[in-house]
Amino acid sequence: TKDFEGRTALVTGATSGIGRAIAVKLAEQGATVYVTGRRAELGKETVELIEKAGGTGHFVVADVGDLDDVRKLAREVGEVDVLVNNAGIFPFSPTAEQAVETYDRVFGVNVRGTYFLTAALAPAMVAKGRGSIVNVSSVAGQLGSPIGSVYHASKAAMDGLTRSWASEFGGSGVRVNSVAPGPIRTEAAMNGDSELFEEFANVVPLGRPGEPDEIAEAVVFVASDRAGFVNGAVLNVDGGLVVV
Ligand code: NAD
Repeated sequence: TKDFEGRTALVTGATSGIGRAIAVKLAEQGATVYVTGRRAELGKETVELIEKAGGTGHFVVADVGDLDDVRKLAREVGEVDVLVNNAGIFPFSPTAEQAVETYDRVFGVNVRGTYFLTAALAPAMVAKGRGSIVNVSSVAGQLGSPIGSVYHASKAAMDGLTRSWASEFGGSGVRVNSVAPGPIRTEAAMNGDSELFEEFANVVPLGRPGEPDEIAEAVVFVASDRAGFVNGAVLNVDGGLVVV
């Protein structure tokens, strides 16, 4: 039997990259998946991939950087068994050159969006005594970089939320964990600051960057009942990058 038969999941930023891979894999494991993001065309593509895999998907448009959108999204999907906070942006700039707007946007999407979507959906999980929340953070939250201070800080903040929520909701049977990817071959990451991507990829002990599917595997595992005693963890899926 499939791990998520009869369960529902919401994946943010599932219109591309890692989020799309997570959405498809959850659906393959039997979940009904709500796919959310800002771009309807891409969202529909993800739903098509889900259907091709024999699953059920629904697209709901929402900008997680916008609190009205976040609350509307939560109302629309209602109760879910699994929430994956994956949507994220990663602009890079030296600290002194960082625009205030960029700073606010990075924290607005990566941290505030994660925070208030979870705040809206966790109470139903708590009431039911079951649920799993996965924050897709980054090994950036454990590392420094000369041009990534805002992004790195936002990912450390997500891991901080994971620990407090594991403590806050754990007593009600709701588990909260982070999956922290290393460099992963998505279009966005490779077209972003590709030099930084290469730099990180080059020091991965396994000698290569990761694939979106390899992150999805880890997310699906920690979201499932098979990870029933995993709570408050930050699971690095980085080919060993942070230990070198
Ligand atoms: P991506 O750009 O393909 O995925 C991010 C998704 O979030 C996109 O679909 C994007 O449209 C969506 N998004 C951005 N802002 C949004 C908003 N305001 N509202 C709703 N959706 C929004 O890139 P990815 O590489 O797949 O990254 C996915 C996640 O993994 C991000 O949180 C990223 O920080 C994290 N991550 C990626 C890597 C990597 O190397 N690819 C490494 C570590 C962590």
